[in-house]
Amino acid sequence: MQVEIITVGTELISGQTLDRHSHYLSRECFTLGIPVHYHTSVGDHPQQLFEVMKLASQRANLIFICGGLGPTEDDLSKETLAQYLQEELIQDPEVVAHLKRFFQKRSAPIPINNFKQSYVFKNGIVFHNEHGTAPGLAITKNQVTYILLPGPPRELKPMFETRVRPFLLEKLSTEAKIVIRNYSFFDIGESRLAEVLNDLIRESKNPLLATYALEVGVILRATAFAKTEAEAESLFASIEDEIFKRTGNYCYSTENESLEQVVFRLLSKQNLSVAFAESCTGGLLSHLLTTVPGSSAVLKGGIVCYTDEVKASLVQVPHDLLKRYGAVSFQTAKALAENTRAQLNADFAVSTTGVAGPSSAEGKPVGLVWIGLAEKGKTTKVYRLDLNGSRERIQLVAAKYALFILQQRLKKGELLK
Ligand code: AMP
Ligand code: MG
Repeated sequence: MQVEIITVGTELISGQTLDRHSHYLSRECFTLGIPVHYHTSVGDHPQQLFEVMKLASQRANLIFICGGLGPTEDDLSKETLAQYLQEELIQDPEVVAHLKRFFQKRSAPIPINNFKQSYVFKNGIVFHNEHGTAPGLAITKNQVTYILLPGPPRELKPMFETRVRPFLLEKLSTEAKIVIRNYSFFDIGESRLAEVLNDLIRESKNPLLATYALEVGVILRATAFAKTEAEAESLFASIEDEIFKRTGNYCYSTENESLEQVVFRLLSKQNLSVAFAESCTGGLLSHLLTTVPGSSAVLKGGIVCYTDEVKASLVQVPHDLLKRYGAVSFQTAKALAENTRAQLNADFAVSTTGVAGPSSAEGKPVGLVWIGLAEKGKTTKVYRLDLNGSRERIQLVAAKYALFILQQRLKKGELLK
């Protein structure tokens, strides 16, 4: 199957909006085992769109057309395709009913323009839109299937997941189930991970392996094609030992969890608590953990001790220590973690102190961060990081590192699953 993706909208080619759909759909198609051959972005110009559709239909047999399904006059994807295929559009009473309910919920009358969205291909199928008004559509003609999807990402993604992927799976008429496992890594770059796993990735077929860089961290995505979940499991098992052997402790989850979710899970499982003393992360670490529902069971609290004055008064870091070593130091990180743990009566405390930038401080370089990890009855550990990037990135990576360090401590020798 040859796949092609067309994204439609003047905002995409004028640099106002980044095309996220080509990226998203290509990844999804890849995991379905159907690689994409072309991406084309075109403005809201029916003639140019017509040309693009014509070209695509000559070289692909599955074509995604994203955007241009809105209610406004410049949204013309469906009408242009109908014209190109010489196919009739008819009003779908179910879509009309959906529009009525959609606007009723918002106590608003249906704008006249939205009725245009209730027209669908007479010979096609309709994908219900749970998050918006434009339904998705599919039509097959001359052995080419066209799938039209609404532009807003928060509509397109759930529609793909709940409606389009099953449609494609059926179309691929494969008996195989597709099971995906994401291995989440931290503290190892994508290129390093790809290098370490190079032969496994290159030779991988089932499961198919691919790496993806996240904003912070990397994912190794394994896609297994199997008849049953159990068979998929055994396919994953066949590669996991080798992956873990080569990547040591860098993998923190095989279940699509964030670092904060892993920390929460490990703390709550062992009935343990944590407290934070945050300087350079300014509360971000506490915030990340509190995004996990139920975190009050494990998080005692956090102190944002931004100035030396507060480090001394609220966290009892001795003045002479601060003066001698500075706020950004091994010694301060250690004292912050130890004193906060004792003061908040937690099993663990993690501290962050560093130079987030853009200018250096205390004669110390931007990106230098110390993280302290205090544990009841154990010797405190202090870690040095040398980060780079913007102020926001340094803060985010420092907070994630703090969580990474904590989860490693919590896992101890525990197996990774
Ligand atoms: P539509 O009305 O279907 O043309 O799309 C409505 C909105 O969806 C646009 O204003 C964009 O904000 C967003 N959108 C459309 N296409 C894309 C795309 N390829 N990537 C990201 N956002 C998009
Ligand atoms: Mg548009």
